[in-house]
Amino acid sequence: MFFKDIIGQQEIKQHLRQSMHDGYIPHARMLTGTEGVGKVALALAYARYLCCTDRNVEDACGTCPSCIKFNKLIHPDLHFVYPIVKNDKKKKEICDDYLKEWREFVLKNPYFNYNLWLEFIGAENSQGLIYARESDEIIHKINLKAYESQYKIILVWLPEKMHESCANKLLKMIEEPPANTVFLLISEAPDMVIGTIQSRTQRLHVPPVDKESMTARLKELTVGTSNRMEERLQEELVHLANGNYLRLLELLDNTDDRHEFLELFKSIVRCSWRKNLKKMRSNADIFAAMGRDRQKAFLSYSNNLIRENFFYNLRIPEINYINREEAEFSNNFSPYVKEGNVIGLIDEFTLAERHIESNVNPRMVFFDLSLKIAVLIKQK
Ligand SMILES: [Zn+2]
Repeated sequence: MFFKDIIGQQEIKQHLRQSMHDGYIPHARMLTGTEGVGKVALALAYARYLCCTDRNVEDACGTCPSCIKFNKLIHPDLHFVYPIVKNDKKKKEICDDYLKEWREFVLKNPYFNYNLWLEFIGAENSQGLIYARESDEIIHKINLKAYESQYKIILVWLPEKMHESCANKLLKMIEEPPANTVFLLISEAPDMVIGTIQSRTQRLHVPPVDKESMTARLKELTVGTSNRMEERLQEELVHLANGNYLRLLELLDNTDDRHEFLELFKSIVRCSWRKNLKKMRSNADIFAAMGRDRQKAFLSYSNNLIRENFFYNLRIPEINYINREEAEFSNNFSPYVKEGNVIGLIDEFTLAERHIESNVNPRMVFFDLSLKIAVLIKQK
């Protein structure tokens, strides 16, 4: 990761470079902000910049021995701390036991979140934590001599997931760090980090990515692919992503689905309203042919759409994240989503999703759902 690879965030990049040129290298920084804005990417670019032996004003060189090791995240003076899930059978107890997976994951895309990481290590149903024992590992690492670089860097991703006793020891290290040690903490919930750590780190808030930079990246992603899209749609995706690059990627993945899902949803509502049993059956066939993953995706899409329609009634544009096509539909549909039935509708879609997960016959699930919608939608 270089500064040039980061989407937007010009001010933060400039601040990090400039402070270094001014000789101001805080021994503990905390980058805060929501997911998908590039906090890890910024921390990695900064770490690379600090260690590069041939950096220029703008960025690291990319060719010195330090940069070459950064390309694979194998620089001996770069250490990582991140939430893990203990696995006694596989003898995975500390962060370094997951180091191979971590490097692969971060190199694939430095824009990620907690759930994606847990999914990557096959632990999506568990709680990822930075366990108490990790503090011994960190102490050991900061007491090592810097091998090759002037600085030793400890990057702590999500310190809010840290066990209290580990956090207390980390605090001591931050209070009295050995020379040339730089802690880079990356937090999405800084208020959940112990106050004494918060007050002893130099805080840098990373805002949502600006629209121009998002649009530029989206163009790069879609040029020359089947995903090439008209400007109007691009604008829409950037608006919906709301400064979160991860969300943009997700939206890009779902563009085609979204249109198809909306059409099916419209059809369900229409035939539920008219109690058109024949059409309900043929819709159930369409649904059954989708396959389990897309069935689940459709149900969760529908659930969101119901929520959005409820908000749509309240006319608060900032919390509406529907596209133009959906907005056209919502103009007619939203008056039917009311206080009296919104919870019921959401419950029915959630239940259907659960039934699909437990392998209930999709035709039956869908037909049942259509009947329940027919009742709920007419409620006063
Ligand atoms: Zn270099």
